[in-house]
Amino acid sequence: MADRVRPGPGTRAERAGRLADAVGTAGLDLLLVTDLTNVRYLTGFGGTNGACLIGPGTATFLTDFRYTDRAAGEVEGWEIGIVSGEWLVGVAERLEGRVGFEDDRLTVREAGKLEAGSAEDVELIEAGGMVEDLRRAKDPSEIEAIAAAAELTDRIYLELIGRELTGRTEEAVARFVVDRMREAGAEPSFPPIVASGPNGASPHAEPGPREIEPGELVTIDMGAELDGYCSDCTRAFATGELDDFAAGIYEVTLAAQLAGLSAVAAGRAAVEVDRAARELIEAAGHGEQFGHGLGHGVGMEVHEGPRIGPRSNDVLAAGDVVTIEPGIYVSGRTGVRIEDLVVVGETGIERNLSSVPKELTLVG
Ligand code: ZN
Ligand code: ZN
Repeated sequence: MADRVRPGPGTRAERAGRLADAVGTAGLDLLLVTDLTNVRYLTGFGGTNGACLIGPGTATFLTDFRYTDRAAGEVEGWEIGIVSGEWLVGVAERLEGRVGFEDDRLTVREAGKLEAGSAEDVELIEAGGMVEDLRRAKDPSEIEAIAAAAELTDRIYLELIGRELTGRTEEAVARFVVDRMREAGAEPSFPPIVASGPNGASPHAEPGPREIEPGELVTIDMGAELDGYCSDCTRAFATGELDDFAAGIYEVTLAAQLAGLSAVAAGRAAVEVDRAARELIEAAGHGEQFGHGLGHGVGMEVHEGPRIGPRSNDVLAAGDVVTIEPGIYVSGRTGVRIEDLVVVGETGIERNLSSVPKELTLVG
């Protein structure tokens, strides 16, 4: 499976080519890429210390002596430079001209070291986000990798549906999820959320010792990281017949989720997509109880661009992989969130990667 999803060297060369063009267009001589996820995206290098220097006519991968062999095996199409001595000082010595750096990924102290270590005529320019912009549009190999991570999550949901939740603690259910992921060669992309009854009122509830009771909503939010790509999916289940209030907020959340999905298309402002879902929740009188954005991009990281929320400036584009996840959280009482992971197409959703049914499902 690892081989199936690994992008060919051609794909990585294309990424590097597009980035080099963008660096030139931004009026920079070089971009210094220090974020390790970005470095892995560009070069395939999986070690824990590396950086890229890229610009028109330059593609240099830097690492230290520990990774000489690994870099030679993993990194194709890049000139490889081995930095000795203190890492950032050694990197700084290789900078020339107007150099963009990932200001959003370096600490002030690290940026200071770059500044101090580089030649007088080097101009350091804040240029965070350039690789992240490139990472937004997923190529087919990436979409397959995310789909595989989503399929794993779906299988675990189906197993949960087939078993009893009542009487198990939230912690035990979360442990089951993590164990299943590890058995499949994956890791959780974030610690699973299992929020039962009143605990569902917190969007980021941590699974605790509470025993799941009959007749309540249980919100489970989980994602897997498989072969370097993440998934993210939320479902809420009923452990028996719900009271009218809990059943009601479930129906409103589901209607809002479907409206959000219908609003997804390339060229659509993220705020409009958020609005399409949010207005249904507001109309039902729960606007104040939906206190987060509608969704986010997912890829090598479980939270990446674009942001879909009431204050987002992003516009959806074909190839974005995003979540649509409205929720209603009623303090002291109950809560629900429903989340799918979808690929954005030109005129709508190209592919919904989450296949677990969303009609209210009764589990024991
Ligand atoms: Zn989630
Ligand atoms: Zn999410």
